[in-house]
Amino acid sequence: MRVANIGGRAKLVIAHDRIVDVADLSHGRFGPHPSAVYDDWAAFSEWAATVDKDQVVGQTFEVSQLGPPSPTPRQAFAVALNYVDHAAESGVKPPENPLFFTKFMSAFSGPISEVQIPGPRSNVDWETELVAIIGAPARRIGADAAWAYVAGLTVGQDISERVMQRSGPMPQFSLGKSHAGFAPNGPWLVTPDELSNPDDLAIGCEVNGELMQSARTADMIFPVADLVSYLSHVVTLYPGDVIFTGTPPGVGMGRDPQVFLKPGDVLTSHIEGLGDLRQTFVRGPGVPGAGTRKG
Ligand code: ZN
Repeated sequence: MRVANIGGRAKLVIAHDRIVDVADLSHGRFGPHPSAVYDDWAAFSEWAATVDKDQVVGQTFEVSQLGPPSPTPRQAFAVALNYVDHAAESGVKPPENPLFFTKFMSAFSGPISEVQIPGPRSNVDWETELVAIIGAPARRIGADAAWAYVAGLTVGQDISERVMQRSGPMPQFSLGKSHAGFAPNGPWLVTPDELSNPDDLAIGCEVNGELMQSARTADMIFPVADLVSYLSHVVTLYPGDVIFTGTPPGVGMGRDPQVFLKPGDVLTSHIEGLGDLRQTFVRGPGVPGAGTRKG
C-alpha cells in the first residue's frame, strides 16, 4: 500500500498516476488529514486492504503536487553516523549507541522542491536517508517487535548546512539541518509488506546527474528496528512520528576536495522500491549575525 499527501489530505495511491482521497472513499471514517490516518493506522490498514483498486475511479495527479507523507509529526528524529563508512569520512569512530538530533518540522517539504541556500557563506550538503514513519504508540518495545510499530517507509534528504552545524563550541546539528526546505521527503509512504526486504534497499543520490552516494540500507549500524526500540526506551513514539535513519558515505563534506551545493544544482535522491526526490537549489538570504558574537 502507498499513502500520499496532497494539500494536507491523505490519498491512497491506486496506480502510478492515480490516487483516491481517503476521507471521500471511506465516507469520513479515516482522514482527511494524514495525521488522522496515522492515529488510526491499524484500522486504516485493514480497511485499505479491502479497497478494490480496479473498481475505484480516482483522480490523476502529478508528483509535484505531493507533500511529505507525514506532514505534521509530533516528533521528527534523525540519526547521526549510522553507516560505518560515513563515520569514517566524517573523521569519527562509529558510535556505541544511536546518536539522535531533530529536524524541525518547518523544514519539511514534499518530494519535488526548490531549496534556498542560506547566504553566500554556507556549505550546503546532501544526506540521502531512509525515513521510517511510526504507525502505533511505542514505549519500551524490543527490537524484535519494532517493525509492527512502523507504518511504512519513504525517501528523505537530511540537507545540512555544515558551517552552522560545525561552528561554535558544540556542534549544532538540529538547527543547521532545519533551514526552510532542508527536510524533503516522499514521494509517498510505502508499507513494508510491499518490499521483499525492507532492511536491504539500494539507496543513493546524484548531483547534476553525477552519482554521489550509492549504498544499501543493510549497511546501517543500527537498523530501523534497533532505532525504534532504542528511542522507545527514552521517549514515547507517536503515530506519524518520523525517523530519518542516517546517511551512507559520499556526502560533499567527506570528499577531497569538498563539494557543496550551489545555485542551479539539481539533487536527485532515490531508494529502491520507494521512489525519488528532486531538489533544485537557489540562492537565499543568509542568517543575520551568523559568524559574529556580541560582547
Ligand atoms: Zn543525516
